[in-house]
Amino acid sequence: MRIGVDIGGTKVAAGLVDATGAITQKVRVSMVSAGTAAAGFGAVSSAIEAIFAAAPEARAAVTGIGLCSPGPLDPKRGVVINPPNLPCWRGFPLAAEVERAFGVPARVDNDANAAGLAEVLWGSGQGNASVFYATLGTGIGAGIIFDRKIYHGRTGSAAEGGHVTVDYRGPRCGCGKFGCIEALASGPAIARLAQGKLAGGASSRIVELAGTLDAVRAEHVGQAFGEGDAVAKEVLDEIALLLTVWFGNIVDLLEPDCIVVGGGVAAMMSPYFEHISATLPKWSINQRAAEIPLVMARYGADAGIAGAAALCE
Ligand SMILES: [Zn+2]
Repeated sequence: MRIGVDIGGTKVAAGLVDATGAITQKVRVSMVSAGTAAAGFGAVSSAIEAIFAAAPEARAAVTGIGLCSPGPLDPKRGVVINPPNLPCWRGFPLAAEVERAFGVPARVDNDANAAGLAEVLWGSGQGNASVFYATLGTGIGAGIIFDRKIYHGRTGSAAEGGHVTVDYRGPRCGCGKFGCIEALASGPAIARLAQGKLAGGASSRIVELAGTLDAVRAEHVGQAFGEGDAVAKEVLDEIALLLTVWFGNIVDLLEPDCIVVGGGVAAMMSPYFEHISATLPKWSINQRAAEIPLVMARYGADAGIAGAAALCE
């Protein structure tokens, strides 16, 4: 058994994960992100303690504690450097503190790297040595698993696949660059694209579901698409094309054994997976690109917990 801890700016989720990757206990506490480093660590400790309280047998059986934290971080040393949404931690030795408090080995990585590893060990990427993991949601994250290990790059900052530019004339991304796939195809980008198409007042199920044009979110587009709405289809057709261009670049660079897609927007895009695979050779020089499986992730909202636990394998 291992414990996986998923740390965000507002919450800490922790889970007990067995050898098959099943999450057998789960807790959630508030993160104290704006106070002292100790207060932030206190929130993490309380989540781990809550797991032990719920499953007392785990205290002796747990062999490691993995943690996903917002970056930037140094996964080799287990140090959280200076995440914008965790002002409490500046150069904070998270892995060392957890080891000291709980007496078991601890590992730290970012959520997309970790979630990718969990998919290879226990999820939809099982049986593959090299996997590209993409998480589509409020942002677009990525993880590269090479030879069943996370590829970190020189300083631990590799695999920022969501910030690959696919249109240099495109909108400015939150990272400061222009036309990143995240700026063009994340959940908020899907909502903006729909709002743009509906700004002229065209009738669409999307606006009915959202209430007002301003309230449109990606989920409304997804639901309207499921109900056969034409504008929603137009929006998601375009998002699917952007993702195909992106995956084409990824395939040319890495030629992974498999591409696993997770995150809150993944299910909405899954009806397009077959089409994306079939059209991938148009956006890649790899003429066998269509053979690379493009699959939904096993883990949804629990990807951070499973991923963190996978770090201890
Ligand atoms: Zn970016």
